[in-house]
Amino acid sequence: MCNWLSVVLMGVLLFGCLPFTNMPGTVKSSLTLPKFQEENQPIRQVSVMALTDGSFKDETIHAILMEASDRFKEMTGTEIGRVYIKFVPKWNGVVTDRDLLIFMKKTNKEKNLDLVMAFTNRLFPSDILLLMGVYWMGKIDDTYRRYIVIRTPTVHTVMHEMAHAFILDKGHGTCLMMSGMFIAPWCKYLGKEDREEFLKNKWRNFNEKVHVEEGTDYIPET
Ligand SMILES: [Zn+2]
Repeated sequence: MCNWLSVVLMGVLLFGCLPFTNMPGTVKSSLTLPKFQEENQPIRQVSVMALTDGSFKDETIHAILMEASDRFKEMTGTEIGRVYIKFVPKWNGVVTDRDLLIFMKKTNKEKNLDLVMAFTNRLFPSDILLLMGVYWMGKIDDTYRRYIVIRTPTVHTVMHEMAHAFILDKGHGTCLMMSGMFIAPWCKYLGKEDREEFLKNKWRNFNEKVHVEEGTDYIPET
């Protein structure tokens, strides 16, 4: 959902973003309010299947997931419960990123965990687009909003993509966690409106298809 052009742009816009570090539009200042914390109840636990080809250490993946979990718990009352890490030595049949999403869907067939995340920095044949600057750090499918690919293993990348699984009616915001420049460490809090949308879909069934505007990463029927 975000490409390296964003990184370059971030460098250019870095100083322009800084004044918004604690911008009032985020939930940061509300985290300790009793009403806010009440709205977070009850806690939802989502299960995650993490597929890894060894690009990143299991401990790194686990630590990132747990930190993302803590942050989402305090912002939305949603935490990552069960984590199942599966080693995938070969992404058989994967040529494009869409193939990768299909691969993930098939892999999850038996276990039916809520979210599936592929952690890989491996290049696929379709990554020739890299040469054209079309590189993305994370991606989520637009059919179910549950299959996530992480190419840059950071908490912010995981949080950004995971938030897309609950924030369905909008694209990217500006200079917040849901900005296209989400790697900026100061953009780690949801905007208030994004949190509202998140809470609206907090209990969604991940087996059900979603409708999102501007979707580009659909999973074809197989
Ligand atoms: Zn995005």
